[in-house]
Amino acid sequence: MPRRRPGAVRAARRLEERRLPDWARDFPPIDRLSLETSAAIRFAEHSGAGEHLQPGGTAQFLRSYRAFLRRPGRTLRLIASQCPACPGCQYDDVAVVRDALGDVVRVLPPRARTELREVLTVLDTEFRRRTLPDPDPAHWTDWSGRPYAWWHRRLYEGD
Ligand SMILES: [Zn+2]
Repeated sequence: MPRRRPGAVRAARRLEERRLPDWARDFPPIDRLSLETSAAIRFAEHSGAGEHLQPGGTAQFLRSYRAFLRRPGRTLRLIASQCPACPGCQYDDVAVVRDALGDVVRVLPPRARTELREVLTVLDTEFRRRTLPDPDPAHWTDWSGRPYAWWHRRLYEGD
């Protein structure tokens, strides 16, 4: 997980709800979020404030997360991306989708952040319940020893 960079902090401060432009409200809501939060997300996506932020991205990330959890079976294995370095294919891995949603949370103004967090808490609970912890400590950190987010430390297909 990348640390929160100073640029992202500044960008988040700029994303005040009262400054939301009209165009950001001119769309249907994202997932199960309020119009206000959806507008804040849309504005954030266009600000380029986080590594994973892109127009329309959040709706797609939430669809992907829900699609993963809709798969049949009591327990689910994560599926690694075939080309994880590729800007599009990296999201084949639901753990990277969850990274992206975390990026969105970090740049939102407080009220919108709380609302998106609540949606994620429900999905995370289900994700935790249906996936299995990876027992191999070698998989818990990156090459520099920095721990991965918990959603990366779950069993993948083929583990
Ligand atoms: Zn690719």
